[in-house]
Amino acid sequence: MRTLVVDHPLIAHKLTALRDADTEAPTFRRLADELVTLLAYEATREVRVNAVSVRTPLSPASGVKLARPVPLVVPVMRAGIGMLDGMARLLPTADVGFVGLVRDEESLVASTYADRLPADLSGREVFVLDPMLATGGTLETVIGMLTDRGATAVTAICLIAAPEGVNRLAAAFPADDPLPVRVVTAAIDDHLDHRGYIVPGLGDAGDRLYGQI
Ligand code: URA
Repeated sequence: MRTLVVDHPLIAHKLTALRDADTEAPTFRRLADELVTLLAYEATREVRVNAVSVRTPLSPASGVKLARPVPLVVPVMRAGIGMLDGMARLLPTADVGFVGLVRDEESLVASTYADRLPADLSGREVFVLDPMLATGGTLETVIGMLTDRGATAVTAICLIAAPEGVNRLAAAFPADDPLPVRVVTAAIDDHLDHRGYIVPGLGDAGDRLYGQI
């Protein structure tokens, strides 16, 4: 697995505002949306394209076009939904699949409650959206589901990652794994607390986006 921490002053500025406990849900949603678009710009750097030619008003020109099959974007419910618009802004033609995982607050083990992914992902590049890479259990499960269906590359876009989660994914998907796996994030924070929250983090991303349930 490869990890990219995107180092950019605008990303750091928006992430700081996102972390602030005084930032209310409407602003939090807007900042998360903007951050994802900035991260997606880096995350799509290796997206597959085909050479094409077009005719400008002056002459023919060569260019590129997104290759087919189009990429699949997979927000992990609930909090990943808050990242979908920001991603779709850059990849409007991508298909969207959904997975829902919920974490047991005692054991911290994630279980799947929704799976709306295509059965066949052969030849597909997949972008998974999950704001918090904490223990890594959720992303390990989701990436496993995508691999089982034949995805050719998986990039997880996370607003914040914990070292524990990054290490778990690196162990599960070693660099010589035939499936290229990448994590693109705005920050790798300090550690997880005993409840599995990222410190300093930003709290519960789902609650901050959509309120406590
Ligand atoms: N999920 C969250 O929403 N926040 C964390 O800090 C960890 C997991």
